[in-house]
Amino acid sequence: MLSGKTAVVTGSTSGIGLGIATSLAEQNCNVVVNGRKQNEKSDEICAILDKLGSGQVLFQAADLSKQDEIEHMMAETKAKIGPVDIVVNNAGMQHVSPIEDFDPVKWNLLLSLNLTAAFHVMRLALPDMKVRNWGRVINVSSVHGQVASINKSAYVASKHGLIGLTKVCALETAETGITANTICPGWVRTPLVEDQIVMRAEKSGRTIEEEARDLLSEKQPSKEFVTPQQLGETAVYLCSDAASQMTGTTLTLDGGWTAQ
Ligand code: NAD
Repeated sequence: MLSGKTAVVTGSTSGIGLGIATSLAEQNCNVVVNGRKQNEKSDEICAILDKLGSGQVLFQAADLSKQDEIEHMMAETKAKIGPVDIVVNNAGMQHVSPIEDFDPVKWNLLLSLNLTAAFHVMRLALPDMKVRNWGRVINVSSVHGQVASINKSAYVASKHGLIGLTKVCALETAETGITANTICPGWVRTPLVEDQIVMRAEKSGRTIEEEARDLLSEKQPSKEFVTPQQLGETAVYLCSDAASQMTGTTLTLDGGWTAQ
């Protein structure tokens, strides 16, 4: 379906980003995989993705909290594969602390990765999308873009901000063939969440699996984790013609979290 299109998926060496990169590669899309550093793991991931479809796979090492590295990644992608048709702003981090103890350095880092990076990627990708009158901007926010939880001030602020940024992009591109939407996952069992489960287990003395069950039952009524594959297939749907009139909206996959 996406043969000949080129997608940049930020933070795609793990978790949700890898799930989305996998689904796009299966659709014969050219996929730019991004992580902070090229290493054995990133080479292995690219080799696996390369076998999934007929598109090219390119690894771009870039620390997305740094503007110059984002600019370099986008310029290299254009030089090596061509103009970008699809951007998936997925790279993100979490830091948990009450506001009064929140390290300002961590606040700035989290905002630059979770929110400002998406602005730079969009700013650099939109001109080429406009020239070809087709594009897909897919921003990975969170249920925390819609509701809050304690001790996650920077994360909740960044994820609410990302939904607002996406809406502005949708309005600015409304009369073009570009759409901009946000995906809002509930709990997905990736390293980002595993760290939180381990922290809880260390504090409570309970097992990791007991804490994982508790984490789900506190917030996610389905009591099941969302999977990276489900999020990948959602991204593919957003790239389809069926979604060409869907813009400025959020697709929430949260097992009922925000229905409460
Ligand atoms: P993850 O930790 O598995 O993956 C994060 C990815 O981002 C990795 O590829 C990592 O290399 C990359 N990354 C981290 N810092 C980077 C940097 N400075 N520059 C470039 N890449 C960097 O996390 P995940 O759970 O897959 O999260 C992906 C996105 O989904 C995040 O934006 C997260 O906020 C969001 N999200 C996750 C969940 C969840 O339950 N896991 C729920 C809602 C939203």
